[in-house]
Amino acid sequence: MRRYDAVFLDVDGTLLWVDLDIDGYVRDLKPYATNGSLTVEQAEGPIWESLRRHISENINYPSEEELAAFRRENAREVADSLGLDAPAEVLDEVMDRRILHNPYPEAEAVMKKLKGIGFPLYVVSNWDVALTTVLEDLGWTRYMSGIVASAQVGSEKPDGTIFEEALKVAGVPHDRVIHVGNDPISDIQGAAAAGIDAVLIDRKGGIEAPDAVEILPDLRGLLPLVRG
Ligand SMILES: [Mg+2]
Repeated sequence: MRRYDAVFLDVDGTLLWVDLDIDGYVRDLKPYATNGSLTVEQAEGPIWESLRRHISENINYPSEEELAAFRRENAREVADSLGLDAPAEVLDEVMDRRILHNPYPEAEAVMKKLKGIGFPLYVVSNWDVALTTVLEDLGWTRYMSGIVASAQVGSEKPDGTIFEEALKVAGVPHDRVIHVGNDPISDIQGAAAAGIDAVLIDRKGGIEAPDAVEILPDLRGLLPLVRG
């Protein structure tokens, strides 16, 4: 008998990492600089700040429309602080293009393998309501049996509600699921408190996670682990 029936996966820091192409942003928007110039050094701070704000506040925007308005407002705020006079659509489009979702090298192969040997995969992520689009763009939704995003559920890991919702979506009992994530609090403590086994992906090493059933340096070790 297998040890688990389903696998829950975190996204950022687990399957991919989010980065910003500041050089690209500057190249795209330099023509709109009202004070003569726009440099990477100037742009860096406000753009990262805007991404941090997006991550911490997107839970308040539960529909695509509300999220779009929030994004636009953020993009406008960055542009204003940099003295850029560009139309809203341009700012939107540039911001969208310059946020990068970089898959970890082994992520797709591992998902493919897990699905191939019969493990349904569910994404359980603290993310805005556009998560499905991001995963579609990566060509990853084919591996996923369900996608549970915090902004949709109105609950963020480590809170138990998002894990309960994921269990409902998956239709499996908590003791037959393993959750995989890179954050010792959101992923490991959160899952453990919901009665779900959790594996920490610690790519740099050195993270303490006493509640984790295992700590792995990347996703490859999942295959033997879930098979039991
Ligand atoms: Mg993460």
